[in-house]
Amino acid sequence: MISLRSTLLSLRRIATRPLRRRAMEKLMREGQAPIYSVFYHRVADEYPNPWTISCREFERQIDYMQSRFELIGLDELQRRVREGNSTQPAVAITFDDGYAENCRFALPLLMQRKIPCTYFVTTGHVISGEPFSHDIARGIPLPINSAEELRAAADGGIEIGLHTRTHIDLANVFDTNILNREIKDANAELEDMIGRRVRYFAFPYGLPQQITQSAIDVIQETGLEGFCSAYGAYNFPGRNSFHIRRFHADPDFSRLQNWLDFDSRKVRIEPYVPYHLSSTKSTPQAISR
Ligand SMILES: [Zn+2]
Repeated sequence: MISLRSTLLSLRRIATRPLRRRAMEKLMREGQAPIYSVFYHRVADEYPNPWTISCREFERQIDYMQSRFELIGLDELQRRVREGNSTQPAVAITFDDGYAENCRFALPLLMQRKIPCTYFVTTGHVISGEPFSHDIARGIPLPINSAEELRAAADGGIEIGLHTRTHIDLANVFDTNILNREIKDANAELEDMIGRRVRYFAFPYGLPQQITQSAIDVIQETGLEGFCSAYGAYNFPGRNSFHIRRFHADPDFSRLQNWLDFDSRKVRIEPYVPYHLSSTKSTPQAISR
């Protein structure tokens, strides 16, 4: 279904195409090409909801991104941000939450095409098999990935990342015991589960209010190599690479295209998120922007 909003967005994108192209060419010449990261949740044809995309639309988006951009992993994204010379825009694909149906179509497609992907899961739900409370509340308890499925995905080249233990909203959590349980202990649990090191963390909800200093401190103490936000922003060379900014791979294709076509308005409206990082090997500068 094409909404009026997406039609208007497409028209704006087409009208501003020459401007956008010039802006991108300038960024590329200056080694400042944006390095995108997108996030998905669930790829399935049954029970559509705002965080689900159909198999057909998912494949269409992957085809589109693969034909126009280099598809890279989060480690390569960080390297490009850190080294400060990005001459071509690239995209890193991620998933949040760990919905079981992703094993039917989305992950096999990415594995078959050898497209890097980081797949963030909540350990408590994987262990208990308990669906998310927001899905239970809607009366559709969607199934969660099992540990076996995650191990098979990891064997197939998908990087598994941490999305806390209980999908907790970290905006108001300052209790160190809770933070340790949700991040440090969950990380150890996940590493045991998949038999591999876990390198990345994605904040549930991922809005500026969730990106708290207390959580970041525990993420760093845990030895993770970076965290992902989800409030909709671009990564640029020269920023601190520990924070990976992502935008939603919207089921509405025109919105995804708008992000990928480089919308300078998104840069102007990006919220400022104050925090500091203790220095690590992947974060040479201890400042947030
Ligand atoms: Zn989530």
